[in-house]
Amino acid sequence: MGISAEEIKKRAYQLENQIIKDRRHLHQIAEIGTDLPKTSAYIQQRLTEMGISWKACGGALPEKLTADFVEAGFPKMEKATGVLAQIGHGSPCILLRADMDALPLKEDSGLEFQSCSSASHMCGHDSHAAMLLGAAQILKEHEDQLQGSVKLMFQPGEETGAGARIMVENGALTSPKVDVAFGLHVQPTEATGTIGYAAGVNSASLDTFILKIQGSGGHSSQPQLCVDPLMILNQVYQALNLLVTREADPAAMVTLTCGVAKGGTAVNIIPDKAELHIGMRTLDVEAAEHLKQRIPEMIDHYVKAWNGTYELTEFHTPCTFSDQGLCESLVPHLAEIVGADKVHQIPPMTGTEDFGYVTKEVPGMFVFVGAGQRGNAPLHSPKMVLDEAVLPLGAALHANAAAAWLRENGRETV
Ligand SMILES: [Zn+2]
Ligand SMILES: [Zn+2]
Repeated sequence: MGISAEEIKKRAYQLENQIIKDRRHLHQIAEIGTDLPKTSAYIQQRLTEMGISWKACGGALPEKLTADFVEAGFPKMEKATGVLAQIGHGSPCILLRADMDALPLKEDSGLEFQSCSSASHMCGHDSHAAMLLGAAQILKEHEDQLQGSVKLMFQPGEETGAGARIMVENGALTSPKVDVAFGLHVQPTEATGTIGYAAGVNSASLDTFILKIQGSGGHSSQPQLCVDPLMILNQVYQALNLLVTREADPAAMVTLTCGVAKGGTAVNIIPDKAELHIGMRTLDVEAAEHLKQRIPEMIDHYVKAWNGTYELTEFHTPCTFSDQGLCESLVPHLAEIVGADKVHQIPPMTGTEDFGYVTKEVPGMFVFVGAGQRGNAPLHSPKMVLDEAVLPLGAALHANAAAAWLRENGRETV
């Protein structure tokens, strides 16, 4: 029969103090990027205490990726400290995912357990990891009733847009093969315990291009002896903004923003170099694919037309999809935890979530769980505060999604 939603919820509330303790500990040791030594060690220690087998997933990053991160303004990151754990055994397998990295932001929440370093959990990933530890405990206690396996993915580097990709490339979705995946994100500006999800595309893709234009500088009175990188930058800037208006379907709702444009030191000097950072987001996969190819082409043509040279660094994070069928099968089980009146469809978000690397490979479902109320400081604000009442609910949502999906799709027990 397996464990019921009611039992799961009851157990999650019994574990509430432990989940809060885990969350506050992770909150205080906030670390950023793909290399989270203290955070991963804590997760590993807690899993070991619960008797759950785990393995590290990530390891040394390719040199090129480390260099690209530095180009993009991230700290130097040389490894990824993802953790994969498993409860139950064999097929089928549902993956539950929690990200666990923080932001390079000084916290100003006033909480007694606020982070003292320059990193802080203002995206709430500390709560995600603590909820998944809570779910792990509940599922482990009923391991013999699971008709398949539950894989727990503790992921670093979500805010870099590449953490999930690194774990997927390092086998997170194999042995046992993952059949479906579930992930959640807290939302401090929505009422605690409400759930919002979007079937289909539910977060934008993000394609980032960091362009370094090399010209040849000199006196501003002798432009004929120079290659002016600022003039090239200006032309690329205009061309890329026009590209979206001419080649993307207006319904695709593409945004292209050059958030950094820099070069030059004085009015009478033509500089050697200029730099342009371009971010392109859309909810439309076709438009993303087209522009991802056309942006480098346009850059190449414009820079070469004016005799410059360039280096281009690219980062791509796909849209996150919630599979219609999986939503239909999981929504009733999310409702068992929070109440049917609290589960709503919402429009896709224009932000980006690197869980898209998982939902590109297997059917997935991603939900937002309210953890506060309207008017609260939003995610990524230094004053963001979560309502901790969301913690046992999140643990129960994870555990019930996994237990129920395996009950309905798992092998027969003998
Ligand atoms: Zn974030
Ligand atoms: Zn986040």
